[in-house]
Amino acid sequence: MRLIKNGYMKQLVTKGSIENQMNTEGIKVIRGNYDEKELIDRFDRKAITNKIVEEAIVAGKGRHHWMFFCINIEHCEHVCQELNERGINARYAHSKCDDSDENIEAFKRGECDAICSVNQITTGFDAPFVDYIVWMAPKMSSAEWIQGLGRGTRIFPGQADCLVKDFAGNIVRCGPFTDPVIPRKKGEKGGGKAPVRMCPQCARYQPASRRTCSECGLVFPILQKITTQADGSDIMGEKPADRKLGILNTSYKLHIQKGTGVKFISIDHIAEEGEIINEYITFDKKGYETYKAKQFWRESCGGSLPKNTTEALENIARLKKPSALCVEAKKKKGFYVITERHFDEV
Ligand SMILES: [Zn+2]
Repeated sequence: MRLIKNGYMKQLVTKGSIENQMNTEGIKVIRGNYDEKELIDRFDRKAITNKIVEEAIVAGKGRHHWMFFCINIEHCEHVCQELNERGINARYAHSKCDDSDENIEAFKRGECDAICSVNQITTGFDAPFVDYIVWMAPKMSSAEWIQGLGRGTRIFPGQADCLVKDFAGNIVRCGPFTDPVIPRKKGEKGGGKAPVRMCPQCARYQPASRRTCSECGLVFPILQKITTQADGSDIMGEKPADRKLGILNTSYKLHIQKGTGVKFISIDHIAEEGEIINEYITFDKKGYETYKAKQFWRESCGGSLPKNTTEALENIARLKKPSALCVEAKKKKGFYVITERHFDEV
């Protein structure tokens, strides 16, 4: 974008979160935005705010003027409180707070490190030194998202860019700052997801067309066809539906790869029809393999992650065995691709 190249705007670097991404699946949409009550029910929880704020603090290291966008007033105050408890001098500004103006002025004077707000602070707010924006408010409207991001694009001496930590997945729905998704009318084709993807290793968002990560250099796994519809309707008829298989038993054993000596856990899921779904997991390789292994571990156990495959095998009894798996209809390179794991609650 010309404005950025000419130095009139700071560049925005957008990252998501591998551990704490806010999953908005199933949240009701009212008049083009998420239902606030449902967002609050799901996300304004101490355990969630705690984890996100912790990650946000680590990600914001080296940046000095932070803005947090929250779902509503209560959420905003909770986020602020979590920051304060961790030694970050944060204040909040919202429509029901008498000290809003004073808090904003204090932030502008550099007397506090962070300001937490709902969306009303986005207009007429002038603090060009903002170098870190944290999104904890899922949005569907590009206008609000772009307006919020605008707080980080003003040039300021000595600042090359502004980091946007987007826990809410807004970039996927609303598009990058320089290329927002234009909302479509009902029934019109297009709109929906922006063609960006998050690096599974460093969480940096980038154009989906890139084959390697611009930040950490990871070579991306080949993506399936990128669809424009969030509900997947575009892929109907092109890709057969996944199969759901009841699983009778799951067993784990050590497998050492011939030639490389890399240790894998070989997992056999025995399906009701006698079919065996086999998968290999390793914590001893870099990049996508480890990402896949961590995801598997989180889904199957939820406890702390093992450091390597040996440690994983020592803790294998902690894993829940799935009651059912969804797999893609066709095998890839001889393996079924598992798309969902189901566990019976005990
Ligand atoms: Zn990366």
